[in-house]
Amino acid sequence: MIPNTTETHHWVERLKNAIRDPLALCRQLEINPADLPGGLAGLEAGHKLFKTLVPQPFIDLMQKGNPHDPLLLQVLPLGAESLTTQGFVTDPLQEQDYNPLPGLIHKYKSRVLLTTSGACAINCRYCFRRHFPYADNSLSTSKMPAILNYLQQHPSVNEVIFSGGDPLATPDSRLAAQVQQLETLPQLSRLRLHTRLPVVIPSRINSEFLNWATSTRLKVIMVLHINHPQEIGSELIQAVQRLKEANILLYNQNVLLHNINNQASILAELSEALFTHGIMPYYLHAFDPVAGASHFSVDDQQARQIYAELLAILPGFLVPKLVREYPDKPAKTPLGW
Ligand code: SF4
Repeated sequence: MIPNTTETHHWVERLKNAIRDPLALCRQLEINPADLPGGLAGLEAGHKLFKTLVPQPFIDLMQKGNPHDPLLLQVLPLGAESLTTQGFVTDPLQEQDYNPLPGLIHKYKSRVLLTTSGACAINCRYCFRRHFPYADNSLSTSKMPAILNYLQQHPSVNEVIFSGGDPLATPDSRLAAQVQQLETLPQLSRLRLHTRLPVVIPSRINSEFLNWATSTRLKVIMVLHINHPQEIGSELIQAVQRLKEANILLYNQNVLLHNINNQASILAELSEALFTHGIMPYYLHAFDPVAGASHFSVDDQQARQIYAELLAILPGFLVPKLVREYPDKPAKTPLGW
């Protein structure tokens, strides 16, 4: 199939034109920075620590004039990011201990994670990789031979996860070439894409993407990252429809975040909306203690309480697994309740 350059242009332009100035974000949403916790100084201090980045389709889902909007709070820099909080560190999952090659993280027996891109289309303030050294770890084409060699040395690996950053921030031509190389290894059967890009720029799901994702012999699974039902807008629903028509399996993972989704009723609404659109709830992650984001933290006791309430609302198949990731465990650990 010949790539549709208009479609490519569309998502690339949306990324290029994403808001990078927190004051411009406030202006557009008719919010006075003085009304935010920490005021203008806090906004600027947070932005210095981790740059603001929000694409327009995500802003379009926010409510004007509401400084407590749950989508806005995920991306708005705040002075609280400057706080030093005990136990909150730059690499909470110690991923650098599982990084045998640039671009590859190998923690679990049967799968490896490739950091295909250091870029994201949005900077989520709570991101556990907000301090990750992407410059050393982006997966350029020149690193692929070493990756293929590593996989051959580890035949128990049958699944590759494209992560990042956001893997879909990478041009399709490069992703297609990497997938073509990976599928030459008979040991591999699945390719998983962990991405937030279709949520924040739904036009990323275009024919160029679908072309390579449907022509590989690997079974493609997409794990979206949607934290709140308000993130499911009409453009995302159309993108999800295209993914379903392409037989791509769709799951969602999200993070339990203070003041954003730490209520069973919100999580239940999210699961119902996901299911309506053909996406299965997968993981609800307990918050990873990353430096600069302690104001998003929900403690394990509260997490268990919310989860117990969620279990009482939803049928079991709509309840995501509540898990915590520990640096030294062979898998994600369910939080008991
Ligand atoms: S899109 Fe994912 S990797 Fe990127 S900043 Fe948000 S949570 Fe982190």
